[in-house]
Amino acid sequence: MQPLTYLDNNATTRVLPDVLEAMLPFLTEEFGNPSSAYRLGSRAERALERARGHVATLIGADPEEIVFTSGGTEGDNTAVESALKAFPTRRHIVTSALEHSAILKQAEGLARRGYEVTRLPADQTGWIDPAAVAAAIRDDTALVTVIWANNETGVISPIAEIAEICRRRGVLFHTDAVQAVGKVEIDLSELPGVSYLALSGHKFHGPKGVGALFVRRDAPFTNYFHGGSQENDQRSGTENVASIVALGRAAELAATARHEGILDAVQAKRDRLERTLLECVPGLEVNGTAARIANTSNLHFPGIEGGALLLLLDQQNLAASAGSACRAGSVQPSHVLAAMGFGVDRARGSLRFSMSRLTTDEEIDRALEIIPRALERLRAATANGPVVVR
Ligand SMILES: *Cc1c(COP(=O)(O)O)cnc(C)c1O
Repeated sequence: MQPLTYLDNNATTRVLPDVLEAMLPFLTEEFGNPSSAYRLGSRAERALERARGHVATLIGADPEEIVFTSGGTEGDNTAVESALKAFPTRRHIVTSALEHSAILKQAEGLARRGYEVTRLPADQTGWIDPAAVAAAIRDDTALVTVIWANNETGVISPIAEIAEICRRRGVLFHTDAVQAVGKVEIDLSELPGVSYLALSGHKFHGPKGVGALFVRRDAPFTNYFHGGSQENDQRSGTENVASIVALGRAAELAATARHEGILDAVQAKRDRLERTLLECVPGLEVNGTAARIANTSNLHFPGIEGGALLLLLDQQNLAASAGSACRAGSVQPSHVLAAMGFGVDRARGSLRFSMSRLTTDEEIDRALEIIPRALERLRAATANGPVVVR
């Protein structure tokens, strides 16, 4: 078996050794409940508050504006519900057609509940026009929600412009920043128009099942869970202390990544993979040519069935993705590429490769051997009959 070549970091990332080390004591000796009045509990409580500070610092927020969640999905869902409950007579929301399913599926549910949903497309570069957001806002718009960095293409949305439009029009704005956190500079103290922001630990080397929702001090909030008064009465249930501590450590490490040159190193690897493939694979095209996060490469292999290519890559222990992990195994072509105006063939023939600070040069070298060989096999098979995957 070949060593693992892991190029699917937008699906999930590996926990960093430092992060694991930070969380382990809270699964062993320091197992206290943060709500308990004795010292064991107080230590857990203090660890929780330190983590809150690290997460707040990473995104330029105040610690009081951070609510710990079970991840990106809960943050997205809670933000949207909070905004809608605050303005029960407003029955319209604006979002993009490129959202992660955490927002997409929720918007579908809202449409069934009688809400009107405007879904803005992108241009062929993957970019959402802020002017289209401005044009879509109405007097009865309760919320605008737009993804910060797209999980499939990596394209960065003009969040500052959109947030400013929403602020001027008096409309709440939420952003799914799960793929942006740790990859782009985020300073919410400079973005007063952002009312809510969701992030998730496992997309930046924290554990799965933990995340945070930023709720600006003046933004309405409604509990999703009801019970104990944890999280300043905003999220009931005993806190996932070990994972929250890990999230805090991951946030600390992400905050220094840029000036340590880590993001540049990730980009160098992404660019080497992409440029070399562009040189050696005829007709190869990049999906998402607007400004992107440093780690993502979404590529169209003309005439190739992406699902078949993924299987061949997996045989060589190379992990990549045909769009979003949440729909792996489904033959549904990417809704993101469709929203960029691409047809079914382009969507079917496209794969996403996503790197992280743990991606090695050896992995890129292996990918550059494995991918062209798999393509050759597929092309030969298309010429000579169906490909046999063994
Ligand atoms: C992964 C992801 C989510 C969901 O986060 P979970 O923590 O897995 O619930 C939401 N939005 C985007 C853009 C993502 O990449």
